[in-house]
Amino acid sequence: MITLKDLLFPRRCPVCDRPVKPAGSLICRECADRLRYVGEPACMKCGKALQDKRQEYCFDCSRKKHLYDRGVSLYHYGSVKDCIYRFKYGGRQEYAAFFGQEMARRLGRQIVAWRPDALVPVPLHPRRLRDRGYNQALLLARETGRRLQIPVLEDWLLRVKNTRPQKLLDGRERQNNLKKAFKISRNDVKLNTIVIIDDIYTTGSTVDEIAAVCRRHGVTKIYFAALSIGNGRT
Ligand SMILES: [Zn+2]
Ligand SMILES: [Zn+2]
Repeated sequence: MITLKDLLFPRRCPVCDRPVKPAGSLICRECADRLRYVGEPACMKCGKALQDKRQEYCFDCSRKKHLYDRGVSLYHYGSVKDCIYRFKYGGRQEYAAFFGQEMARRLGRQIVAWRPDALVPVPLHPRRLRDRGYNQALLLARETGRRLQIPVLEDWLLRVKNTRPQKLLDGRERQNNLKKAFKISRNDVKLNTIVIIDDIYTTGSTVDEIAAVCRRHGVTKIYFAALSIGNGRT
């Protein structure tokens, strides 16, 4: 249905960034075909697409022990790189409606099967939140949680260290950079199972660091659902 709001403030398409066609939808019909979903076969740990279905784990996961249980991602990063850039840094909060819908539609069954107590978005440091104005992972978690009827914990996990951007660092530096970066704000919330929500999964060091903190606070099952996943080595 096209509302007056759609006519006055046309929603932008997450792919081409122009007003969506047809108006009233969340993405242009043609643009939807340009997004590449992660399919099967997939790594049993991080969910990255694999070339060979006889493989159980990707190159990264067969060499590195992760602290989380398992994860899934929606898109190949390469196909949404520019969209995610605008979603994070370009003020395009409105993209969350489409991305959250797709997370729920394509990953919802898996997320619900994990029976999480809550979705936990990867937090931003308060200074970065002030600069950017919003946390894209929180917007994603809200949209996804609303559709799947899973609560979102907004201020339970905090980012207490303003870390350097992970993309500028290599594997070991990434892990060190994140040491003591996260903290849990309150002890009265007892959780058994959580799903961490983020926009990009690359090496898994952020999810691992969060998983370590959460386990120390008694969370036993820690999963993640990301909007996109890098190729890495398979
Ligand atoms: Zn478009
Ligand atoms: Zn993997």
